[in-house]
Amino acid sequence: MKLNGTSSNTPLNGSNGKQNGVSSNGHGLNGHYTADDELVDDIGDAHSASSIDTPMRPDAFDLDDDLKVDLIEEHFREIMNILGLDLNDDSLSGSPRRVAKMYVKEIFRGLNPANKPKPTLFDNKFRYDEMLVEKDITVQTYCEHHFVPIIGKAHVAYISSGKVIGLSKLNRIVEYFCKRPQVQERLTVQIAEELKTVLETDNVAVIIDAKHLCVSTRGVHDVNSSTITASYSGKFEDEATKQELLRYVTQPSITI
Ligand SMILES: [Zn+2]
Repeated sequence: MKLNGTSSNTPLNGSNGKQNGVSSNGHGLNGHYTADDELVDDIGDAHSASSIDTPMRPDAFDLDDDLKVDLIEEHFREIMNILGLDLNDDSLSGSPRRVAKMYVKEIFRGLNPANKPKPTLFDNKFRYDEMLVEKDITVQTYCEHHFVPIIGKAHVAYISSGKVIGLSKLNRIVEYFCKRPQVQERLTVQIAEELKTVLETDNVAVIIDAKHLCVSTRGVHDVNSSTITASYSGKFEDEATKQELLRYVTQPSITI
């Protein structure tokens, strides 16, 4: 049984057949809950990331977006069929294509490096050498273990090395890495690493506070908890600088 959900006649199957360390044998075609199912659940509930880079196959972009939409539509229709839904119903008939377009062109468009923002750097003409904090940036991403939303806020900060970027570009960078199946730890590190590269400085901090709908709407059904992750580099590793940042992000936001 294929765990990657693709049929063998599409080029989507990885050539090595790697299935994230989950063996295919014993994974119940007959509907029984097996040890493999338990392992899959445990990986999901642990919310652990396997690497800093989003795990992608080398052939990830061999298919163009329109073909991906067509293929996902086909496969999502099959999922709905298996669930017993009547695809002839007017309300459901468009869902497979709707979901496929949403996956490729909206919520997972950040998988494609071609969609990465290309911020322009400016000289720091004001000689502003204190930290700049952009707080309460909207985070809307999707848990890669359950494919349901993670919603929250990101606070990003940097101390200029002589270059600055437009404020909205900070939001765009956060948004780009959100548009992928994610785990929060990886999202935090990916944003931090990109900011370091773009801003040509190690003086970068990223804090994310987010609610995982896989925790609130299923599994443990905890609607109150949120998850906080942080990355501090360069001058932000200095305790006083870190505390200054934390004061800014915890003070109430202004209302206008
Ligand atoms: Zn999850």
